[in-house]
Amino acid sequence: MNYYSTNRNSDPVDFRTATVQGQPSDRGLYFPEYIPQQDESLLRNLHKLTELEIAFRVLKPYVGDSIPDSVFTRILTETLSFPIPLRSLGKSVYSLELFHGPTLAFKDVGARFMSRCLGYFLQNEKRKVTILVATSGDTGGAVADGFYKVPGTEVIILYPKGKVSPVQEMQMTTLGQNVKALEVEGNFDDCQQLVKQAFADPELRETHLLSSANSINVARWLPQQIYYFLALKQWDPSTDPPVVSVPSGNFGNICAGILAMQSGLPIRHFIAACNSNDIVPEYFETGEWKPRPGIATWSNAMDVGNPSNFVRILEIMGHQDHVLKQFVSADRVSEEETLNAIRVLKQEHQYLADPHGAVAYCSLRRYLDKHPGQKGIFLETAHPVKFPDAIRAALGEDVPLPPELAQRKGLPKQSTRMEADYETLKKILRQH
Ligand SMILES: *Cc1c(COP(=O)(O)O)cnc(C)c1O
Repeated sequence: MNYYSTNRNSDPVDFRTATVQGQPSDRGLYFPEYIPQQDESLLRNLHKLTELEIAFRVLKPYVGDSIPDSVFTRILTETLSFPIPLRSLGKSVYSLELFHGPTLAFKDVGARFMSRCLGYFLQNEKRKVTILVATSGDTGGAVADGFYKVPGTEVIILYPKGKVSPVQEMQMTTLGQNVKALEVEGNFDDCQQLVKQAFADPELRETHLLSSANSINVARWLPQQIYYFLALKQWDPSTDPPVVSVPSGNFGNICAGILAMQSGLPIRHFIAACNSNDIVPEYFETGEWKPRPGIATWSNAMDVGNPSNFVRILEIMGHQDHVLKQFVSADRVSEEETLNAIRVLKQEHQYLADPHGAVAYCSLRRYLDKHPGQKGIFLETAHPVKFPDAIRAALGEDVPLPPELAQRKGLPKQSTRMEADYETLKKILRQH
């Protein structure tokens, strides 16, 4: 399998190069040159096959021979080291719980897979690989955990001081070893800017092999298909295929689901559930693509003003609007509706949802009201303990720490404070 650039201005590359490079030189996104069709023996036997068998068969065509089967199997085993249950909430609604991984968010799946692929691809590299990542909260923890103790790699995370939740901060600052956290006096954009500057610095690039672990990397995007297959593995095969509602920010997650559907997985329809950052819902209404700065909301991992992966969805749909609308709807959910969805789930189902899952639930309910008789799944992308302010605002209560986290709470915080100043960052990188 080769990958071409969606801008079509750079040469196709194999899985290895696409993973190591991250982004093509023409600033497009890598896209598989064809969409593999999963065969009937997989689709009809999902409930009989193991999770590992399913993951292997789904991803093998994308990886090809760039990773030997024995290594690929180990990578998948380590990627899927936690359960992904489908929970029934009443007759027609299910929650796919993607938050049982080490950092309690769905990004663990992509980050674990990518870190291990990179670790394999760069194992003979003499220089140390520095993974440099700016985060508004969830990405930093997932990437740090994914690369934790991966030989030959060093992770440097920049996060905005005082702007991540206590649990998110704890996940980034208590690992130590090859993970270094920088607490930046500034906001997320400042962190992002510093990282960009480092990547553009020729002096630094001479001494350091820098990698971005960006969410557009194919090795983070493609493995997310696995859990859509695992959802269908747990779906009653005698009922109609589900509608799936995905809380969307940069649109990598939903795009993986749509890819899975295009390769044969029976999903009836996708809902892109957005918060007030409604660039995509607006595009569905007006046909105009108007990126703008992100607005802060309760579901802050979705506060994205220019969703980069949407172009991959257009690519899957052959850039045809009527095809897109047949398979995908877009919905916007207000701040009040988000809190209300958290309340409804608690009151009607004794279910504690995080604000991102709540957005997806709200959009799913709205869709099912208009399409009676259908059933649906919403993706619960994070554990509510990561977003205590939203839970307190909705329910007036605190979320107890899960046992694994309570243990970590006593560990010392290891982070270095710094001004949002490039020379300071450069000095720190040079010490590594
Ligand atoms: C990152 C994130 C999202 C958005 O996912 P995209 O792939 O960027 O659309 C949703 N929920 C949570 C909890 C996240 O961390």
